[in-house]
Order: sequence, then structure tokens, then C-alpha cells
Amino acid sequence: MEVITTENLTKKYGSLLALDNLNLRIRQGRCVGLLGPNGAGKSTTIKLLCGLIRPSKGRAYINGIDPASDPKDALRDVGCLIEVPIFYRNRTPLEILYYLGRLRGLKFPELRERARECLELVRLSQWSKTKVKKFSLGMVQRLGIAQAILHDPSILILDEPALGLDPRGIRHVRDMTKELVRQGKTVIFSSHMLYETREICDTVALINRGRLLAYDRIENLEKIFNIRMVEIETVRPLSVHQLEKIKRLKPVRSVVNGGNGGNIIKINFDGDRNTCAELHAELVTNVGAKIISFKPSVGALEEVYLQLVQE
Ligand code: ADP
Ligand code: MG
Repeated sequence: MEVITTENLTKKYGSLLALDNLNLRIRQGRCVGLLGPNGAGKSTTIKLLCGLIRPSKGRAYINGIDPASDPKDALRDVGCLIEVPIFYRNRTPLEILYYLGRLRGLKFPELRERARECLELVRLSQWSKTKVKKFSLGMVQRLGIAQAILHDPSILILDEPALGLDPRGIRHVRDMTKELVRQGKTVIFSSHMLYETREICDTVALINRGRLLAYDRIENLEKIFNIRMVEIETVRPLSVHQLEKIKRLKPVRSVVNGGNGGNIIKINFDGDRNTCAELHAELVTNVGAKIISFKPSVGALEEVYLQLVQE
């Protein structure tokens, strides 16, 4: 079943076309990454879905209801986190969740229990009675996720939830989102970070300058472009001669230094899993590389992304 659809959804700010005829269909239980560089139109899309701004043209539907005309019903089963949340600085997470929970029609004692659960999920239990003004950006962001899930919605719309967080904060957000997907929720997650999108989402909607460039499952996107990458770690850095030999192998498109003092290289090649196995054999027998590890690299989506954005 499709829980979110958009039909030619378009937004103009004055003469600027921020979103250009977006058509998306999102099925229940999917985790869709809305991926694009800054200014691509991610927040605009999310604000339209959440009924915060009105489309210039087209429509959106959440569970069949248009948030522009009937926001209350459309958003009943939706939790949102948009850009950076702002909370009353002199209040504590518990006070804030009780307040927002009552606004959403939750009542004690369930509200108390639910607030406790949500704070636990975002790992803020021990700070539940500390004023928000003492919080780091990451903690505020986590409280933002807690308020989004407070009424246990089945749809979550998160706009760059990891923005501005340190690596530990990013991991927390990632683990939390994965947990919510595992619970069966439908999640839209916007990001300008490929790596993060790849880790969390099963499907990617690539947007740039307000236009949808691709919308498919991650593995299909990689297949369409027939791009494969392997990351190889060797005992010693390969010699110039060896690298030249690799570049001359038939399926190889490019070879890049992957760091670690030259012990890691990334090979970009055309082909399938068999090609990958043949490549491995060539490297060992012909090139004489002493391989420690040989693994398909997470960079492949990045290649697809760069190609699309450049085109
Ligand atoms: P993203 O979230 O992908 O970074 P946005 O959706 O925020 O992108 O913005 C898309 C484009 O619309 C950008 O060029 C941005 O400058 C412009 N924009 C966003 N909000 C407004 C606004 N309220 N008024 C005018 N232009 C806006
Ligand atoms: Mg944004």
C-alpha cells in the first residue's frame, strides 16, 4: 500500500522554482532517502508534505489525504522533524513532551509512559529533568526525534536529522532510525550525505535543483549505471608498474588511492559479480598483489550520484 504520494508537486518562491513536478510513491514500511545537495529542494518537499507551505501546483497525499487542504487528518499518523528544532530553553524534555503530547490529544497516564519510552529510545532518559538550555545540538536533535515519535505515528518524516552532529551523534540518529524502520514504520529521511543514506535507507530519491533525477532501490540504481567498485587492501602499497597493469585490465575504468598510506585502492569497473571474481584472480596471479581484504565499496552510490548531478 502507498502511504505517501505526490503528483506534480511544485513549489515556486517568487521566480525561483524550488520543486519542479515531483512525482513520488512511497510504500508502507519503506525507508526512503531524499538525497541531494544543499538547495536541492529537500526541505521544501518535506514542508509541503507536512502542510507547512502550500504547493504552487500539484498535490501531495498522506494516507490519501491532502495535507494542504486537511492538515489535521493528513498528519494524524505522521511525526516530523524539520530542519533544526527549537524548544523552550527553560523547560525540560519531560515538560516539553507532556506539553506537546497534550496538544496531540494524549492523556495521562499513557502520556507519562509514552514520554518515558521515547526518551529512552533517543537515550535522553538521564536528562529528562534537565533544562534544554544545557543541551548540546545533538541532544536537542534527539529530543526532536522523541517529539516526532511521541504519538507513535506509523510515518516519520525527518529532515536532515543528523545535520550538525558529531560522529557519535550521527551514529545515534542512524541507529534510532534503523530501529524505527525495523518496527515497521515508513520513514522519509532527507540528507546530503550519501554514506548515511546508504546505511539507513532501502530506496533513494535523488533530487537536484528541484528535480527528481532518480527514484529506485539503492541496488537498482547501482545496477542501472552498471557501476561496481571494490576496495582492496594490500600488505604494501602497489608499485606504479602494478597500478598500470590494473588500469590496463579490461573491465577496469579507474583506480583511485583509498588512503591508509597507499595500502588501500578503489577499483571502479564495469561488470557483474563474475567480473568481480575474475578481477580478484587477475590481481593475485597477474598483478601479484598481496591482498589482505577485497570488498565491494560503499562508494558505488556516490558514483551514480555524481554522474546524475553532473548531467
Ligand atoms: P534543501 O533543503 O535541499 O537544502 P530547500 O528546499 O531548503 O533545499 O531550498 C530549495 C531552494 O529554495 C533553495 O534555492 C532555497 O534557497 C530556496 N528557498 C527555500 N526556502 C525559501 C523561501 N522561504 N523563500 C525563498 N526561497 C527559498
Ligand atoms: Mg534543507
